[in-house]
Amino acid sequence: MPERNELLLRLSRFEKQFFPRYEKSYRRLVEEGQHPKTLFIGCSDSRIVPYALMDCGPGELFIARNVGNLVPPWDMSAGFHGTAAAIEFAVLQLKVQNIIVCGHSHCGAIRGLYDEPPPEATHLRAWLELARGAALPDGGSPGELRRVEQRSIVIQLERLMSYPMVARHVQEGKLFLHGWYYVIEDGQVLVLDADSGRFEPLQRQALAAPAAATPTEIDAGHWARFGSGA
Ligand SMILES: [Zn+2]
Repeated sequence: MPERNELLLRLSRFEKQFFPRYEKSYRRLVEEGQHPKTLFIGCSDSRIVPYALMDCGPGELFIARNVGNLVPPWDMSAGFHGTAAAIEFAVLQLKVQNIIVCGHSHCGAIRGLYDEPPPEATHLRAWLELARGAALPDGGSPGELRRVEQRSIVIQLERLMSYPMVARHVQEGKLFLHGWYYVIEDGQVLVLDADSGRFEPLQRQALAAPAAATPTEIDAGHWARFGSGA
């Protein structure tokens, strides 16, 4: 079956081409253990490539991906809370210094707030409720969806602060939270500004090409308490 062959071919390329390039790094990371400084919470969307966005290699990012880059509430109930477990591991054991919540344009999860998944997708329908607070009443026009995608990032950051270990490390100045919005079609990441509560293009004074995107205002009332970022 050709699909299987394709998968095995790609695996072979990893073994023959990718791994040799990073072999020393991998061996060091095994001997010394991993010490990533950043937890990246991103959408499962196939168009998001965290290592490309961050220009980094093995050992540099601890990644938790799920549908919609959503953060469940701090919850002591029984259950299999995968994203919560990743946050606890990153903060308490790896002692990461940064948590990035990275949303993106054309997110199917945000679209799902207006165009609901089939009834059989019970877990998906429940999961998307974590973004419901970002929805705007005017519905799903492209411009509105962009705002909703960004508003959801702010909500997830606020929810991160409901994790006791996150709040504690932020208050102690050991941990900084970041909101990023990746515009897939532009190859541009807008960064949530702690002071203005807006998603702004990167300031690239040293580069020739000016940032082109228009900042989008976000009603992020509590953003300031996340700290100013690092
Ligand atoms: Zn998405």
